[in-house]
This record gives sequence, structure tokens and C-alpha cells, in this order.
Amino acid sequence: MNQGGWTCPHDIDGICDIIKKECDPGDKGCVLYGKVKFSDETSPSNEAFEKRMERKMKKLQEELHGD
Ligand code: SF4
Repeated sequence: MNQGGWTCPHDIDGICDIIKKECDPGDKGCVLYGKVKFSDETSPSNEAFEKRMERKMKKLQEELHGD
């Protein structure tokens, strides 16, 4: 992947050395999985991202109402 000037260090000639197949940003195992929200709504990363955000918000709310 080489978009927006960022090149993933795991991208070896288009093949990801983590998932051992063609680079698929946001796929399970990808370093971006759950960290980034993709414009492609079918990306499995999006659900993981939402869940992560939900947990974060919940934790924040607990902290806020904790005292
Ligand atoms: S799938 Fe993810 S970790 Fe693998 S090369 Fe692509 S961007 Fe990098």
C-alpha cells in the first residue's frame, strides 16, 4: 500500500508479511485493524474500531462519574 505518502513496512512488493497475502489494509492481522476507520464500509476494521471507541467512551464515562 502506498497511499497518501505512507508506506506500510510490512508491505513487501504488495504482499503483507503479517497476513501472508496481498496487502489488505484493515484486514484482521493488519497493523491498522481496529485502529483506523476506513471509507470502505465493508472493512472488518471498522467494526473493531467502533467497539474500541465504545469501550473507550464507557471507560471515560465511568471515570467521570466515579466520584
Ligand atoms: S495488510 Fe496492513 S499490515 Fe499488511 S502490508 Fe497491508 S497495511 Fe501493512
